[in-house]
Amino acid sequence: MARERTLRELAAVPIAEVGVAPKLRPRLEAMGLATVLDVLQHYPRRYHDRTRSAEIASLQPGDEVTVVGEVRRIAGRRTRNRRFLVEAVVGEDAAAVDVAFFNQAWREKQLPEGTEVALFGKVDLFRGRLRFTNPVVDVLGRAGQARTGVVVPIYPQSGKADVSTWEIQPVVAAALEWAGPLVEPLPAAVLGELKLVGRTAAYHDVHRPAAPDDARRARRRLRFDEFLRMQIGLVAGKRAVEAAGGGIAHDVDGPLVARFLASLPFDLTGDQRRAVDAVSADMARSVPMHRLLQGEVGSGKTLVALAALLIAVQGGHQGALMAPTEVLAEQIHGVARELLGDLTVASADTLTGERPLAVALLTNRTPAAERRRLAEGLRDGTVDVVVGTHALLYGDAPFRDLGIAVIDEQHRFGVEQRALLRGSAAPVAGGEAAGDGTRDGDGGGAGGIPDVLVMTATPIPRTAAMLVYGDLDRSELREMPPGRTPVTTRVVTADDRGRAGAYERLRAEVGAGHQAYVVCPLVEGSERVEARAAVEEYERLGAEELSGLRVGLLHGQMPAADKERAMAEFRAGTVDVLVATTVIEVGVDVPNATVMVVEDAHRFGLSQLHQLRGRVGRGGGSSWCFLVADSTTPGSEARMEAMAESGDGFLLAERDLEIRGAGEVFGERQAGMGDLKLGRLPRDARYVEFARSTAEGILDTDPSLARHRALAEEVEDLLGDDVEFLFKS
Ligand code: ADP
Ligand code: MG
Repeated sequence: MARERTLRELAAVPIAEVGVAPKLRPRLEAMGLATVLDVLQHYPRRYHDRTRSAEIASLQPGDEVTVVGEVRRIAGRRTRNRRFLVEAVVGEDAAAVDVAFFNQAWREKQLPEGTEVALFGKVDLFRGRLRFTNPVVDVLGRAGQARTGVVVPIYPQSGKADVSTWEIQPVVAAALEWAGPLVEPLPAAVLGELKLVGRTAAYHDVHRPAAPDDARRARRRLRFDEFLRMQIGLVAGKRAVEAAGGGIAHDVDGPLVARFLASLPFDLTGDQRRAVDAVSADMARSVPMHRLLQGEVGSGKTLVALAALLIAVQGGHQGALMAPTEVLAEQIHGVARELLGDLTVASADTLTGERPLAVALLTNRTPAAERRRLAEGLRDGTVDVVVGTHALLYGDAPFRDLGIAVIDEQHRFGVEQRALLRGSAAPVAGGEAAGDGTRDGDGGGAGGIPDVLVMTATPIPRTAAMLVYGDLDRSELREMPPGRTPVTTRVVTADDRGRAGAYERLRAEVGAGHQAYVVCPLVEGSERVEARAAVEEYERLGAEELSGLRVGLLHGQMPAADKERAMAEFRAGTVDVLVATTVIEVGVDVPNATVMVVEDAHRFGLSQLHQLRGRVGRGGGSSWCFLVADSTTPGSEARMEAMAESGDGFLLAERDLEIRGAGEVFGERQAGMGDLKLGRLPRDARYVEFARSTAEGILDTDPSLARHRALAEEVEDLLGDDVEFLFKS
C-alpha cells in the first residue's frame, strides 16, 4: 500500500512532477496553481449533473433547465434601440437552441464557435423558435475534448489565464493519482460524531464525484477542515496567552469607578452596565484581558472605556486610549477631561495626600516641549491617562506602569492593531517592563502585561466574530442611550414623484425650523473627482430642489478651516441644508437635523448607509431618511429593502454578510479569510461552532498537538510563524 501523504508534502511538489504539459504550466501558475496541493484545493465552483440535464432535442417552452452543447454560431450587433445583442446557436447532435445575450458584448469573445458550454435558464418561444435569454453560462472547453463521469465538475473561470474546465480536469486527475492516500488528521471519534467522510475520499470526491451526494459530503468535510484550522490557531493562541499569565490583577473595588459613575448625569444603559462588569471581572484576573467592545457610533462606548481606564488608575497604574484619527483623539480627550476632571488620586507629594487625576493628550500635533513634559509625566507616573492616536502604540511613550490600553477602531479594522494584539500586546507593554518598584502595584506589579480593550463601531455578527476575532472575548452595546428617535426610512425612485416627495418633506421640515442633509451621489474615482461632483450637485440643488433655502457644502477636499466653518454654521442653524459627501458619516451631531436625502443610494454599502442615517434621529422630533435609488442590481435592491426594514445595526450587519459574503465584508486579508475557499458566512455559521468545540476538545487532551502532528502542521502552514511556537512540544 502506498504511504499516506500529508498536505505539507503535497505543497512541496511542483505540478511539473505530476506531468503537466509544459505549455499549460505557466497558465496554471498564473492562476496560482503551482503545486499538487494548489491543484487539489482548486475546487469546482459547481457540478453539472448530466443525469438531470435536459437534451436540447426535448426542450419545451417554459422549461427552466440546464443543457450542454457546442456553440455552433455566434455574432453580435447593435439593436435598433441601441442595446448590444449577441446571438448564438448552441447545438447537441442534430438539435439546436437559440441564445440571446443582451448588453453582454464580451460573450462573443468568450464563446467562440466550437466551445462546449452548459447553459442554465428558462427557455421561451421567440418568433416561433426556442430561445434562452441571458442564461447562466459555464464554459467547459473546446468541444470534443475528453470528458468523463456523470457529474461534471465546473471549475472557476479565471479570465486572465483562461484555462478551461476540460483542460483542468486531467491535471486534477493526475494530481489525485500522484497524491494517493492522504494522512487523516482527525481522530476517528470526531469523524464519527460529525459524520464526516475521510480526507482521501474528500479530496477525490470533490473533484470526481460518482454522484452529486458524494460531492456534497466531500465539500462538507473540506469546509469543516478550513474552519477547524482557524479555530485551532485561535484557541491555542488564546490558551497560550492565558497560560503565560503575567497580566495585572487590578483592584476593581477601588473608589474611582464608583465616584465616576455616581457623577454622571444619567444612568448607564443595561448593556453598558454589563460591559463594565465584564471588563471589571477580566481586569481582576492575572490573565491579560483581550476584550472586544462592539457598539454603534453613539451607543456609549466611551463611558465603558473610561471606566476601564479608571480601574487601572485606582490601583496605581496608567491607562492609554488610542483613537483612529487626531480629531477623534482630541474629541475623546475633551470628554475625558470633562468627565474625569474632578477625580483625585492618592499622592505622597502633596499635603492632602491627593492630587487631581491627570489626563493628557498626545497626537502628532502636540508641540515638542509639551511632548517632553508628557514623557516625563508618563515616566514618573504623574500622568494617569493618556489619549492619543495609534502612534501611541508604536512611539516610545515611556509608561511607568501601563495597566490598560483601549483601542478605539471606530469603524475601521486595523489589521496592524490586530497583529499587535495577537502578539499579546507585547509592544505596548514593552519599554519600561521592569519598572523601578517605587510604587508597587498589586498583582504582577509594574511591568505586568497590560489589559487590552478594543472598541469597534462595526457591528459584527457573532459567528463572523468567532472567525475574525475568535481569540477575543466580546461585549456588545446593542441598546442605545435614551433620547434617540426612530427614523422613518423610505426608498424612492430617482425619476418621478418619489424624489419630488422627498424634497417636499425636506422643505416642510425646514419650514418647521428643522435642518436637513443631502448626501451626494457616490462618485467612483479620486477624492478630487468626488469633490467636483459634490460642488456641481450643490449648485444644481441650490438652483432647483433647494432654491430659496440656506444651503451649505461639506466635502473631503475642502481646507480644514472651511470644513470647520461649514460645520459651525450648520450647528448654529444659520444653514438649513448641508449638502455633503460621506464625510458626514463620522462624528457629526446636530440634533435639530430631522431629514436626510441620500442621492444614488444604491451605490452605497449597507453599513455606510446605516452610518449615514445615524446623523438624523438625534433630537426629540420624528425624523426621515429618503434613499433615492435606481435599484438596478439584486444586491442594491436587497440593501434598500434591509435599510427600510431595520434600524438595528447588528441586524443590518447580518444582512450585509448574507448579501456580500464574509470575504468582501472583512477583506481577504483578515485573519486567514484567504483560506476560506469553500466556507462562507453566514451560511456556515454552524461549522464555525462545531469547529470551535472540536478545536477545544482536541487541545484539551493534547495541548501541544504532539499526538496530532498533521493537524499542527496544517495550522502552522495556514497561520505562519505566529503560531509555530505554540505546537513545539
Ligand atoms: P460611542 O463612543 O459609542 O460612539 P459615546 O460614548 O460617544 O458613543 O456616546 C454618545 C453620546 O451618548 C455621548 O454624548 C454620551 O454622553 C451619551 N451617553 C452615553 N451613555 C449614555 C447613557 N447611558 N445615557 C444617556 N446618554 C449617554
Ligand atoms: Mg466613540
